[in-house]
Amino acid sequence: MYDVVVVGGGTAGVAAAYTAAKNGLKTLLVEKKIHLGGAITSGLVLPVMNAGKSEINREFFDELTEKMAQQGAQIEFEGNKGWFNPEVLKIVLDKMLLSVGVEIRFLSSVYSVEFDFNKNIKKLYLQQELLSECINKRYSNNPDVIRNLSPDMLLECLETIRTDNNESSLNERLLEPIETRYVIDATGNCDVGKICGCNFFENEFQPVTLRFIMGGIDMEKFAEFLRSVDDNREVSPVECIGGEVHLSTAYTWDKASPWALRPIFEKAIAAGDLTEEDSNYFQVFTVAGCPGALAFNCPRIARNVDITSVQDVSAALIEARGSILRLAEFCKKYLSGFEKAYISNIADDLGIRVSRRIEGKYLYTERDLKEGKRFENPVLEANYPIDVHSSEKDGSTLKKVGYYQLPIESLMAAEVNNLFVVGRCISADFKAQAALRVQQSCFSMGEAVAKYINSLT
Ligand SMILES: Cc1cc2nc3c(=O)[nH]c(=O)nc-3n(C[C@H](O)[C@H](O)[C@H](O)COP(=O)(O)OP(=O)(O)OC[C@H]3O[C@@H](n4cnc5c(N)ncnc54)[C@H](O)[C@@H]3O)c2cc1C
Repeated sequence: MYDVVVVGGGTAGVAAAYTAAKNGLKTLLVEKKIHLGGAITSGLVLPVMNAGKSEINREFFDELTEKMAQQGAQIEFEGNKGWFNPEVLKIVLDKMLLSVGVEIRFLSSVYSVEFDFNKNIKKLYLQQELLSECINKRYSNNPDVIRNLSPDMLLECLETIRTDNNESSLNERLLEPIETRYVIDATGNCDVGKICGCNFFENEFQPVTLRFIMGGIDMEKFAEFLRSVDDNREVSPVECIGGEVHLSTAYTWDKASPWALRPIFEKAIAAGDLTEEDSNYFQVFTVAGCPGALAFNCPRIARNVDITSVQDVSAALIEARGSILRLAEFCKKYLSGFEKAYISNIADDLGIRVSRRIEGKYLYTERDLKEGKRFENPVLEANYPIDVHSSEKDGSTLKKVGYYQLPIESLMAAEVNNLFVVGRCISADFKAQAALRVQQSCFSMGEAVAKYINSLT
């Protein structure tokens, strides 16, 4: 019996699991991939955007920053400490979570749930892509028996697998029953809520992006080039930190942002080196601890991709990878400093800005956010703008706002008493989510829910 099962070891999930275990709760973290970090590591989403100076539920982020700095995998740039090396983050997160006693289960997800009569989740059935040759052996490769294994039979098999790993091969799926008092859905798409039959707001989208990293860039040369073409240091900040050049720059096809790189993109489109769509959004950031590397916040797919459709996601991934190749060639041909650059990483997940948002005990609105409404039990206090990417040209907006708070009730599922939701799928309207989804706020959500559950036990 666990106190808490956190499903999803991404941005919000790691903060939730770490804080829960640190507070003495018996915590299981279930992650479908082979590493932690979610959008930051699988999606190569960096840096952690600065969402303000409030100290509410910032302990996890501060500790993470410190641990990353100890590994030389973090810098402070533009007053923001959240510039990380995403590969090292995977290792630091493993260590941090194990240090407080989180039990981590990779390659696993939730298959089904069992409720008690109060509509509390009593049991989760985990589906694991597990090592199950021994099941075949034990049950004589009989598919009918294997398909209908009882929980007891499965547990027996699990025991055998644990004690005899030589019997294993990674080719079968296995269901494992897990009892828990609380569940935190940190899957980004609210997969547990979906299995529980919760209601969602799910008809407004923002475009997806497949991020990538290029290495081998002569950063001093590129910085010099940027200084020569763009004197707007808000769009193109450049700084030397610890002997290394750090910078970022951006360009978008929207007319409202007549940014300095526009003529270069127009030239490349006219020459057939880029398509109009390739140029819809372009943003690069240096990567802490990786000299000569730039992380790209593009290509953005300029249409609404249905992230629940494997066919649509497959098409988007192929489209995006084609665009990455063109963008990389464009950089080498048109941007000084990229002459010897190469594609070093492509994200292994599509960057999804918004998908399902759960119907919670409180629906947080754009109005709450703009009015800076105060709450009795705030999860976070932030001032990150309302950042809506649009698939339409000239449709994107970035609206500055003052400080706002988010109530804990927006992280509680309306229909299931012991289900909490953290990260980008919380109970917020479309515009409010567009401000709340950034990583610093997601970390705070995870931390806040874990503390809240601790106060209930
Ligand atoms: C393109 C893009 C650019 C962005 N840029 C920035 C930026 O520069 N800075 C910033 O601060 N924010 C940025 N954001 C926002 C931010 O990165 C995300 O909103 C935030 O990281 C989401 O956190 P999360 O915990 O909700 O989800 P994630 O971090 O995606 O974590 C979800 C985790 O759950 C796992 N999972 C999913 N389904 C299951 C399942 N069924 N069972 C088990 N595990 C599961 C996933 O593998 C993953 O590890 C950006 C977002 C996008 C898409």
